[in-house]
Amino acid sequence: MAYIFVPSAPRDVLLPAADERWSAVLAARPELRPAVELQRRLLELVIGLHETIEGGRLPRLSLPPRYLAAKLARGVPALAGEPIPLPVAVLTRTLLLLCGELAASGAGEVADHIRSAIDERRLDAGSLLLASLSRDQGAIRTGAVHRGLAPDLVWLVAELAVGPFAHALQRRIFAGASRPSDPASSPGDGPLADALHQWDHGYCPACGSWPALAEVVDGHRTLRCSFCATAWELTTYACVYCGEDGEPFVTAAPNEERKDRRVEVCSGCGGYMKTVDTVALSPFPLLAIADLETMDLDMAAMEHGYAKPAMREFKSRSS
Ligand SMILES: [Zn+2]
Ligand SMILES: [Zn+2]
Repeated sequence: MAYIFVPSAPRDVLLPAADERWSAVLAARPELRPAVELQRRLLELVIGLHETIEGGRLPRLSLPPRYLAAKLARGVPALAGEPIPLPVAVLTRTLLLLCGELAASGAGEVADHIRSAIDERRLDAGSLLLASLSRDQGAIRTGAVHRGLAPDLVWLVAELAVGPFAHALQRRIFAGASRPSDPASSPGDGPLADALHQWDHGYCPACGSWPALAEVVDGHRTLRCSFCATAWELTTYACVYCGEDGEPFVTAAPNEERKDRRVEVCSGCGGYMKTVDTVALSPFPLLAIADLETMDLDMAAMEHGYAKPAMREFKSRSS
C-alpha cells in the first residue's frame, strides 16, 4: 500500500480550492497576507506550467518496470541518476517569471540578480534545472555562491520551475502501479507495483526528496513529497528520517486545542515532520498551501531545536 495515486485537477478546480484555503489562512492569521499574496502569484505560474507540461509530450524514458523495481528494492528512488532530457526552453520561461514575481515581492534585488544571471547566461538555466531535478543541493549551492547569488533562493526558484515536470514524470513512471483511489478499478500489479508496495523509506520513491508533511486521511498517514508531490504510506510508524520508533520518537500537538495538527519529532536524529488530519490529499501543486497553513508547526519544532535534514544523496545507475 505504499504508493497512492492522487488525481490531478484542472486550473478551474485548483484555483477556487486554493482561494478557499488562503482565505482560511488569512482569517486566522491576517499578518500572513504578504506571504499568501506571493504564494498566489507563484502558484499561478506553476499551475500554468503544469498545464503546458500535461498538454505536451513527455520525453520517452527507457525505464522498464522490472529495472525500476530492482532499483527501488535497493532503496534507490526511480529517477535518481537517470539521464532525463528536460524541456529547458519551457521551464526557463517560467523560471524567469518566478524570479520576476519574487523580485516584485520582499525578495527584491536578490531575486533580480538571479534573473539577470540567467538572462545574461552567467548562470546556465539548463544546468540549474537539471541539478534541481537531480536534487543536487551541493551543485546548486556551489554554483550560486560562486556567482554571488543567494543559494536558498536559487534552490527555491529552480524547484518551483522543475516541480511540474518532476510531478508529471513520477505519474508517468508509476502509472498502473498504484493503489487505485477508486476501488472499482483494478489494482496495479507486476514487479513495479510490488516494489512500490514494499517501499518503506521516508524519502520519496520517485525523486528521493523528504516529505513536506504527512496528510492523514481516514487514519492513513500519507507522506507527500516536497518536490514532486508523490504520495506514499509507510507500513511502520517511525521517524521518517532515521527509522527510530522507540522513545526518542514523539508525536505532539503544539496547540492543545488542535490535535488534528501535530509534529513528529525525533531526538535520535533531531528531525521533525508535520502531520495534519485532512479530508482529502492535496492535488499538485496545492501541497505548498498545506505547508504555509502549518508554518506555526515548523516554528514550534524549530524553537525546540529540531530541523529538517539535508537531502539524501544516491548513487547513479552505473554504480
Ligand atoms: Zn518526489
Ligand atoms: Zn529520527
